[in-house]
Amino acid sequence: MSSSSAPAYAHEDLNPFEIASRQFDIAAERLDLDPGMREVLRRPVRWLSLTLPIKMDDGAIRVFEGYRVQHNCARGPCKGGIRYHPAVTLDEIKALAAWMTWKCACVNLPFGGAKGGIVCDPKKLSRGELERLTRRYAYEIAAIIGPDRDVPAPDVYTDAQVMAWIMDTYSMTRGTNSPAIVTGKPVALGGSRGRIEAAARGCLCCIRAAVRVRNMELDRCTAAIQGFGNVGSVAAELLFNEGVKVLAISDSRGAIYSLDGIDVPALIDHKRRTGSVAKFPQTVPIDSKALLEQDVDILVPAAMENQITLENVQRVKAKIVAEAANGPTTPGADGVLHKNGVLVLPDILANAGGVTVSYFEWVQDLQEDFWDEESVNHRLEKVMGKAFEDVYRTAAIYDVSLRTGAYILAVDRVATATKVRGIWP
Ligand code: NAD
Repeated sequence: MSSSSAPAYAHEDLNPFEIASRQFDIAAERLDLDPGMREVLRRPVRWLSLTLPIKMDDGAIRVFEGYRVQHNCARGPCKGGIRYHPAVTLDEIKALAAWMTWKCACVNLPFGGAKGGIVCDPKKLSRGELERLTRRYAYEIAAIIGPDRDVPAPDVYTDAQVMAWIMDTYSMTRGTNSPAIVTGKPVALGGSRGRIEAAARGCLCCIRAAVRVRNMELDRCTAAIQGFGNVGSVAAELLFNEGVKVLAISDSRGAIYSLDGIDVPALIDHKRRTGSVAKFPQTVPIDSKALLEQDVDILVPAAMENQITLENVQRVKAKIVAEAANGPTTPGADGVLHKNGVLVLPDILANAGGVTVSYFEWVQDLQEDFWDEESVNHRLEKVMGKAFEDVYRTAAIYDVSLRTGAYILAVDRVATATKVRGIWP
């Protein structure tokens, strides 16, 4: 095939940091930011690349690669999760760190953005190996993190236990008890009630608002959900509880469909027992890629980046796409969705419930005063409701998509903070 007849998607740049930079550039252009400020805000302020040698259970030494990227701290300490995945790259972590900066600013939390990751397949590590890898990583990044500097949290394939090991390693090496060093910890260590469900709960707040502006009724909607982990499984359950018919769900091992709607609580039990959503009774298997193309009202990508691309976007039939995952839609595909009248709830708004309750956890740890779940959820709904209104209004004023509206709002807040702080020295 000659290059002139190659399909448009063959040329799509899927480097996450390039994508994050393009999203920033669009907002910077609309805000008419000066070139120097654009240079400052586009780049991460610092990053560590780490070599992590670990003694495996069989006595062999294996060396892993890890990263911590701090994108921006103009509005407060850096904040962002830690990802364990075989496909982690420095550019991916840089993108995720930048998205954290814009996300925290979009929902108006006093945090900057960071992200970390280790190139590994946690499913192939024993619990002991995972703990040693986590503690070595925590020790190495201790040079740049701290409750008032950079506060990690869980992300893909990390959980409350991993956060507990990080908190313990940091506390032991500092000779202090530092619960505020990480969020997403077990409640027994100063974790917040409601944190595990927070990203999905925040996403539900945005979906409710979107359904309202589109004059739809939530309990008459259908949905498909990609990913059935921390965020996807809770999002599925919350939608199910709202009366939404969840027709299709996938995880890394398979995808399932039921025209009558999937019994989500029973599926959660099935996944706990079998490790996957596959082979759930009274559903039929479908191709994982076809999940995104189902004829549903609401599509919730809750897995990885670059899932809706120029290659498949014309086959997306949903009226609302709620980006529970970070970066699931490429810029090219995003433009097509907007043109096709699909309401996209952008990641920096739709999944910001996670970092919002992380912020609540950090506040509770610093004040040593812990809130009940009702109070956490009530505050979360207030923050998300206000953020949706701010984004919706900004998008209307500039006559742009909700994504560009969210970026304009966020970039303006970070640029304003940077300007009034001044460039030191
Ligand atoms: P997780 O590890 O708990 O779950 C990830 C899920 O995605 C798993 O079910 C996995 O099987 C599935 N998956 C992986 N590749 C897939 C594929 N190709 N097709 C279908 N399913 C696939 O991770 P999580 O914490 O739920 O994070 C999911 C997304 O949400 C990520 O983009 C993450 O950055 C984002 N996010 C998470 C939080 C949080 O608080 N955990 C907050 C905001 C955003």
